[in-house]
Amino acid sequence: MPDLPLAAAALFGLFGLLVGSFLNVVVHRLPKMLELRWAAECAELQAETDRLAPTQAEPFNLLRPRSRCVHCGHLIRWFENIPVLSFLALRGRCRQCAAPIGLRYPALELLCAALFAWCGWRWGLSWEALAWSGFSAAVLALAWIDWDTTLLPDDITLPLLWAGLCAAALGLTDTTLPAALWGAVAAYLSLWLVYWAFKLLTGKEGMGYGDFKLFAALGAWLGWQALIPVILMASVIGAVVGIGIKLLGRLRTGGYVPFGPFLALAGLCAMIFGPTAILATIGL
Ligand SMILES: [Zn+2]
Repeated sequence: MPDLPLAAAALFGLFGLLVGSFLNVVVHRLPKMLELRWAAECAELQAETDRLAPTQAEPFNLLRPRSRCVHCGHLIRWFENIPVLSFLALRGRCRQCAAPIGLRYPALELLCAALFAWCGWRWGLSWEALAWSGFSAAVLALAWIDWDTTLLPDDITLPLLWAGLCAAALGLTDTTLPAALWGAVAAYLSLWLVYWAFKLLTGKEGMGYGDFKLFAALGAWLGWQALIPVILMASVIGAVVGIGIKLLGRLRTGGYVPFGPFLALAGLCAMIFGPTAILATIGL
């Protein structure tokens, strides 16, 4: 059947739209859930807890409360929450207060759908396609959250690392289990060493432990052979974007540009084009 890859791509693309819609919730709520957890854990931060959670009785998680317009609090009905289509039908505005809905919501949905569709096209209706779709979704969520909050939650990085090792053991990725394992170890240790060398030399922190864990997860999925291409690509793009942000005067307080989104981008490129192609593009 010649059009089977297309059918798989369409099916996975639709699935990716739904997952992308859910990722918007994850990206929006997980950092707040973490803040709430941390605030609750610290008795000294009682005042902070009150500020973050004025209504303690109500649960705050990925499913509840239902989504509302961030401007007017209008409860978003199911038909206003259909990926991309609702955004188009509402012309990007809240149905109640007409405040613009950020383009980032449909953008994340479409990006997720495109990656899923690519996985469906590349691997067909298979466990491989499902595994790499999961990888794409997790990496996308991490990139978005890190860009927003400079956090890379353990709740995503660590399961992603374990999943990569399991996928290698099950033969769902192109790496052997030892290559995945040593990829994860070498990735974590190399960034850990760079972090401490930089900190001892300059007294500053260049990145965070979340970056080590994300890089380790990429190592588990892509194998140790992909580490150098991925870190080179992430560093080059990160430096270019960082300088761009600086020149535009858009640097945040603290002058910190998160590294996770660039690691994520390089990881996705390694999935799609393979590590060798990345090296060739950089000119190595
Ligand atoms: Zn509104």
